[in-house]
Amino acid sequence: MKRIVVLGGGFAGLWSAIGAARKLDEHGIGQDAVRVTLVDQNDFHSIRVRNYEEELDATVVPFAQVLDPIGVEHLRGVVAGIDTERRAVSVRTAAGVQELRYDRLVHALGSRLQRPSIPGLAEHSFDIDTYHGAKRLDAHLHALARDGREPDRLRVLVVGAGLTGIELATELPGRLAKMAAQASDRPTPRVILADASPLIGPDMGDEARAVIVEALAALGVDTRTGVAIESVDPRGVTLAGGERMAAATVVWCAGMRANELGEAFPAARDRLGRLEVDEFMRVRGLPHVFAAGDAARAVLDGEHASVMSCQHGRPMGRYAGHNAAADLIGQSMLPLRIDWYVTVLDLGGWGAVYTGGWDRRVISTREAAKATKRTINRLRIYPPLSGDRAEILAAAAPQVQEPPEVRRLAGAADGR
Ligand SMILES: Cc1cc2nc3c(=O)[nH]c(=O)nc-3n(C[C@H](O)[C@H](O)[C@H](O)COP(=O)(O)OP(=O)(O)OC[C@H]3O[C@@H](n4cnc5c(N)ncnc54)[C@H](O)[C@@H]3O)c2cc1C
Repeated sequence: MKRIVVLGGGFAGLWSAIGAARKLDEHGIGQDAVRVTLVDQNDFHSIRVRNYEEELDATVVPFAQVLDPIGVEHLRGVVAGIDTERRAVSVRTAAGVQELRYDRLVHALGSRLQRPSIPGLAEHSFDIDTYHGAKRLDAHLHALARDGREPDRLRVLVVGAGLTGIELATELPGRLAKMAAQASDRPTPRVILADASPLIGPDMGDEARAVIVEALAALGVDTRTGVAIESVDPRGVTLAGGERMAAATVVWCAGMRANELGEAFPAARDRLGRLEVDEFMRVRGLPHVFAAGDAARAVLDGEHASVMSCQHGRPMGRYAGHNAAADLIGQSMLPLRIDWYVTVLDLGGWGAVYTGGWDRRVISTREAAKATKRTINRLRIYPPLSGDRAEILAAAAPQVQEPPEVRRLAGAADGR
């Protein structure tokens, strides 16, 4: 029996595993001949992009619901080592360390939020990088609202005004207002979005940035740019020069890096720690290893490198899985090419902004863009939940989806 091992069950890993199973199924190859094993530390696929939202229960999909019907094995454990010479990975499971030999490997261990070594940051900050992190933040905010006494206990400082920080900062006013309304003393919610850079949304381009700034102002979110945080404590942060910024909650949203296990591969990596892959998602110089999602860097349109995003992670995963299986069974691999790029950024109670192209031209805003964002977050990026084998396999076909639909709401104030 041969084995395809997929490391990670995020957007890239889940779709790799299904993509590999689909290709094997197409050729009538059963699990007795080639087994597909997905390794993840959790027993669920996380719709990670929704971690800024209030309602988190629907953001986890048990692996069993998607993988059992298609005969993909899930091994729950922490990947501890990768040996490309011996073609083996070691996994720490509840039953001890297991070694898995592979014939083809897909590395899809994703990315992690980076916390620089600022005193107090690790102990006193929250994050929405993972489902568990987002749950912890939510529980903390509810406990503050319910049990605290200080009138300014719902003051939240979000650090990092990139896409994740903006989505959280614009979502929080609505969430905090509900919590405040339930507290007997009605504390005053306040959200501050801060960044070291001189701009909010530094990568968003002038046109979209103007929309973001308008939304932040409308929602009452304060912004501070050019800040250098020197230390964090339970009552806020101290800036270089000694200025204090008071906050009962500090959420760190600044800086992503590829999983450090990428360093286990004797292969080129970029400045974010991502493995360089070719158009087949194969790691350059390692013919048995594929990589996808945030752990990999692919050039998708002949010019632009992939962005750490589910937008790229899902197709990269589908192709990596397809190609790992195709290569193993002597079929030809398919190159991945994506000719479009969009950003659909949630702006909380204000709406959203949808941009098209690498220069991020604004396509729609407010409720029209929000309708697109809702469809993406609640439908488009989910695997089929029906348990139907044929439907699940078909969803992993190596095809690139069309860009998300542009909504035009009749009568909506959507002049952009
Ligand atoms: C709040 C937030 C909002 C976002 N919004 C957007 C958006 O609007 N649009 C967009 O395109 N992207 C967005 N992103 C980025 C997107 O979530 C990532 O690009 C995407 O999750 C990458 O998918 P992945 O499968 O490569 O990696 P990951 O999602 O990081 O998945 C990696 C998987 O590997 C597992 N794993 C990691 N290490 C180990 C180990 N050692 N052993 C076992 N298992 C391990 C993890 O449990 C996880 O399941 C957002 C991210 C965040 C945090």
